[in-house]
Amino acid sequence: MTGYPLLLDLAGRRVVVVGGGAVALRRVHDLVAAGADVLVVAPEILDDLAALAPVHRRPFGEDDLAGAWLVMACTDDPDVNAAVAEAAERRQIFCVRADSATGGTARTSAVARFDGLTVAVNGGDDPRRAVALRDAVATALDLGELPARPVRPAAGGEVALVGGGPGDPELVTVRGRRLLARADVVVVDRLAPRELLAGLPDTVEIVDCGKSAHRHNLTQDEINEVLVDRARAGKRVVRLKGGDPFVFGRGGEEWLACVRAGIPVSVVPGLSSALAGPAAAGIPLTHRGVAADFTVVSGHLDPGRSADEGVDWPGLAASGGTLVLLMAMERLELIAAELIEHGRDPATPAAVVHRATTSGQRVVRGPLREIAGLAREAGLGAPSVVVVGDVVDVLVS
Ligand code: SAH
Repeated sequence: MTGYPLLLDLAGRRVVVVGGGAVALRRVHDLVAAGADVLVVAPEILDDLAALAPVHRRPFGEDDLAGAWLVMACTDDPDVNAAVAEAAERRQIFCVRADSATGGTARTSAVARFDGLTVAVNGGDDPRRAVALRDAVATALDLGELPARPVRPAAGGEVALVGGGPGDPELVTVRGRRLLARADVVVVDRLAPRELLAGLPDTVEIVDCGKSAHRHNLTQDEINEVLVDRARAGKRVVRLKGGDPFVFGRGGEEWLACVRAGIPVSVVPGLSSALAGPAAAGIPLTHRGVAADFTVVSGHLDPGRSADEGVDWPGLAASGGTLVLLMAMERLELIAAELIEHGRDPATPAAVVHRATTSGQRVVRGPLREIAGLAREAGLGAPSVVVVGDVVDVLVS
């Protein structure tokens, strides 16, 4: 049957379901949800089914079709289903046969609904194909991989600070993907997972903070201005950042800029490279009997002069916990020396995880006193996460 696809308005209309088992139950459930006036006819009927709709506990008779717009033959007896189909044919009522894809005069579809859209899939004579495709479409819609952008509401613009995760495009959150799929403007960082931009329609404006048209990086003030300006113009703005927006990402400043300008702003947490980097290298940040705490520190200032930033290097050196250093590659030599001077064992295992979770990931391990040199020899610079502590070797066999 080539068929002619239709969406039926069944609200208040009589639909007769012949059959009282599991198949009938699924159909009745959906029909009731569609507002149909359902009548179930079968000698034996599941209690769950009887709770959903009026029932006639007896064999099917043609008179049961009185007033029906549609009938579903859902018994496990092909002869009964055939008799239902014949009766429906005589009365010019469409009939769906559950047991035989080629029988009857109508077919049901595998259905996905999303944001006012209905996707109905028919799989020829193989309903499993339809279900498999429907499931794939439903997932893709949910992840924003398909062009199902809703007509934008009249409401004003807004900004979402979205954590894009450490780099692998699969490590962004579902909510982040969804917001990205609905964005009018995406303001993106150098370290954000840029593969996610590939699927966006051409109509989406992409503002690249790491590589502007003038070939210089946008300053933080310029970025704040772009966010506020676009949102004021009624756009849905996604600020796509690497890792988590509120971990060394200046997300707090962007948040405040929006609040000061009266722009609705939200934050979608992301998987920080501080967590994902060590994990991707097989390093647990805590491990029973080895480390019960970890500290995430920025290494972008000289250890000797970082009092303003509140980094207590002597304290960190003295504690036995795991250290995770971001933005530390330029000063790794100084940082390691500082830690050793204040009491960390020079033999403490350390690791540098470069471009974690991406296809360019590289890992170098070595004792704290040598880690900076080893990383330099291996040519590893930013972006890298440095881990210091006995956990570095705990899974190495
Ligand atoms: N908000 C981010 C951190 C931004 S600061 C987050 O939560 O991950 C930038 C620093 O993050 C880099 O210098 C580097 O230390 C680290 N970084 C970000 N992505 C990384 C990656 N894929 N691999 C290793 N380090 C990364």
